[in-house]
Amino acid sequence: MNPANRYKQELSKFLEISPDGIKLYWKGRVALYALLKAIGVERDDEVIIPAFTCVVVPNAVLYLHAKPVYVDIDPVTYNPDQKSIERAITDKTKVIICQNTFGLSTNVDEVVRMAKSKGIKTIEDCTHGFGGNYQGRPNGSYCDAAFYSTQWNKPFSTGIGGFAAVNNPDILEKLEKVNLQLVEPNFREQMSLKAQLFARQHLLTSGNYWRMLRLYRMLSNYNLVIGSSSGGEVSGTAMPSRYFLNQSSVQIEAGLDNIKNLNDLLRLRKRNAEMYSEYLLGNEKTHVPEQLFDNHSFLKYPLIVGNRRDFEQHAEAEQIALGDWFNSPLHPVESDLNPWGMNRNHFPNADSIAAKIVNLPTDIDNPEMVIAFLKKHLDLIE
Ligand SMILES: *Cc1c(COP(=O)(O)O)cnc(C)c1O
Repeated sequence: MNPANRYKQELSKFLEISPDGIKLYWKGRVALYALLKAIGVERDDEVIIPAFTCVVVPNAVLYLHAKPVYVDIDPVTYNPDQKSIERAITDKTKVIICQNTFGLSTNVDEVVRMAKSKGIKTIEDCTHGFGGNYQGRPNGSYCDAAFYSTQWNKPFSTGIGGFAAVNNPDILEKLEKVNLQLVEPNFREQMSLKAQLFARQHLLTSGNYWRMLRLYRMLSNYNLVIGSSSGGEVSGTAMPSRYFLNQSSVQIEAGLDNIKNLNDLLRLRKRNAEMYSEYLLGNEKTHVPEQLFDNHSFLKYPLIVGNRRDFEQHAEAEQIALGDWFNSPLHPVESDLNPWGMNRNHFPNADSIAAKIVNLPTDIDNPEMVIAFLKKHLDLIE
């Protein structure tokens, strides 16, 4: 079996579909774009999106000249609830995107049922939730299709990368036609990714994390790292050149290697998240409630703080590796969101959470150190 098929087979073990329903792409956003195209999303169609996501999601909609319609989130689940989604539906709604933010799926079964009754297609944004379950079924199995990311910070990594898993046979057939337009990554693109994967594997150990972080920031300032987004993708809504790229063999190799550890990693993340929830609950702070745990994948653990700047400074001084998802309703855009058709004032939950959220690391061996840190700065936590 060739490596691409072996990789699809490994991925399919975490999903409920055959390897043939899985398609590989250069990035997760490219998989989303391909799915929207396969569904036939075009000018003036509306696509419902959570008002708390990564900017590359509305970008994929805008590249097709369709309209993202945002829905505010529920502050407990970090996802829109079924009723708010239903209110946003018009006769132009073509697709609803359900997201499992930080791994949490919310009412995806109800949303899918409602969408089906109205002839609307559903796509699950599983970029955080690969490997997790919702009510006994794997994330990504409820909707017509799902897309996943294997970027650095996602459930397991191929540097950058992504894939789609398609449950609806009509969409799969159309997707195969859309994929004929995919462009192969060129030598330079593959080599720079390979160099970064190598650096990550050989230079970045937990002992020098902070030194590497400083180095990375310095290089970024001089534009010497190939980030996961090109500048244009976070500053505007025009499609960048060389966007619709196929997955490369470099990524497939890395994927086959890294997916091996995923089950252990999922267990570790869940255990750490349970410890954080227990501690926060015991101190009457905002936490992910136990009834939402199910088999949540806990890519990150969300924490709400009163003064983020102070909290982040303490964390850096005490070497706690905090995450910054999502510091904007359309992460990581800090400026005006009008180009994406969003007015923050209309989404008060997403806007206030984006201003106050940090993420605790879940893939670490010493959660006690994080909890000691929380204890010391309890007054900054809401
Ligand atoms: C990371 C992310 C994406 C995009 O994934 P890429 O592989 O970087 O394109 C989409 N949606 C959300 C919610 C994400 O966090």
